[in-house]
Amino acid sequence: EGIQSRRSISIFGSTGSIGRNTLDVVRHMGGGDAFEVMALTGNGSVDLLATQARATGARLAVTADDGRYGALKDALSGSGIAVAAGPSGLIEAAEMDAGWVMAAIVGTAGLAPTLTAARRGADIALANKECLVSAGDLFVAAVHAGGGRLLPVDSEHNAIFQVLEENQRHAIERVILTASGGPFRTMSRADMADVTVETARAHPNWSMGLKISIDSASMFNKALEMIEAKHLFNLRPEQIEVIVHPQSVIHSMVGYADGSVLAQLGCPDMRTAIGYALSHPRRANLPVDRLDFARLARLDFEAPDEDRFPAIRLARLAMIRGGVQGAVLNGAKEVALEAFIDGRASFLAMAEITEAVMDALVHIPAPATMDDVFAADTEARRRAAELLG
Ligand code: NAD
Ligand code: MG
Repeated sequence: EGIQSRRSISIFGSTGSIGRNTLDVVRHMGGGDAFEVMALTGNGSVDLLATQARATGARLAVTADDGRYGALKDALSGSGIAVAAGPSGLIEAAEMDAGWVMAAIVGTAGLAPTLTAARRGADIALANKECLVSAGDLFVAAVHAGGGRLLPVDSEHNAIFQVLEENQRHAIERVILTASGGPFRTMSRADMADVTVETARAHPNWSMGLKISIDSASMFNKALEMIEAKHLFNLRPEQIEVIVHPQSVIHSMVGYADGSVLAQLGCPDMRTAIGYALSHPRRANLPVDRLDFARLARLDFEAPDEDRFPAIRLARLAMIRGGVQGAVLNGAKEVALEAFIDGRASFLAMAEITEAVMDALVHIPAPATMDDVFAADTEARRRAAELLG
């Protein structure tokens, strides 16, 4: 018992919303008695990272920010915990011999370390949807080549993973991704023109990082999730539906050829999805709120309005066009999102810029290597920055 049977894990992006929830789930599932933490990574918040590393006895702590190396080193002095920084530090973390890796770095920055962990055969608990949106088939192929499992953490995909019967593959007609509709679900397009970051970040149901919260308000988050679902579950674009469901109780559904629809329900708490990814194929015992159906009383549904939320249309366009359109959509969107956060672009400009860049780069063929993916991402960012002036 004890040491021998502990599972080795790493958490990329441990200081973020998903990362902190993951550490909480790890604590509830036995903490240091059950898990050996190999590497934790963060970016700016080195004090929190150092606290997490000491509390879990991590072997290695990495800040993605080269400039914070000294601060992290100081915060961990005398602890015996190794310290690294920058992109090479993230790769060092990915090379540590953890059997299970939570990929929860936000954005394209998560791609290289997650790919490294996948190639050496770790099970990848995937929160970072950008990996699949940008690198799609290449990323899935890397996981398969490494021999590890791909465990979806995004709540919608985790829900589908829970109700998708692999032995009924032939009978799967469609997946139905639910979307809360975000804070602007009922707002007119005219009013959406001048919304602020403060109102855009206020998600009605889920507590998440800044960027994904704003992506939820624009429904770019759902757009990324449509492409994510295509690659995770090997679907055709027309098999992927989106339905607005303001209560976020149904986390997503799978429709079968006999008319049955299987859904996964729960309170909006990411720890359920994280726990499922950590304990699969068993279920963990987690202190999340239980659904109270009588109090809930009703579940509402409405079709997404693609005029007010063009991101949904852009995702379908990217899937149908193929090529590097996923990487381009994501790269251009990230630049436009940063511009919105900094006050350099309006809320509606995010979709306009993304679509213009997608159209401009429609000729680029499907990527053969990861370098092709990174090149498309770079070019999309350059074009988006140019359009922003
Ligand atoms: P967050 O902003 O709270 O945390 C992001 C983490 O990434 C932090 O640890 C941060 O230090 C690190 N980071 C930031 N910039 C970095 C960089 N340039 N290089 C390396 N590390 C960097 O974000 P989050 O809400 O935890 O989301 C993380 C990922 O999970 C995203 O891809 C998001 O789309 C996905 N996701 C999140 C939720 C959620 O409920 N929060 C749900 C589904 C999917
Ligand atoms: Mg989601």
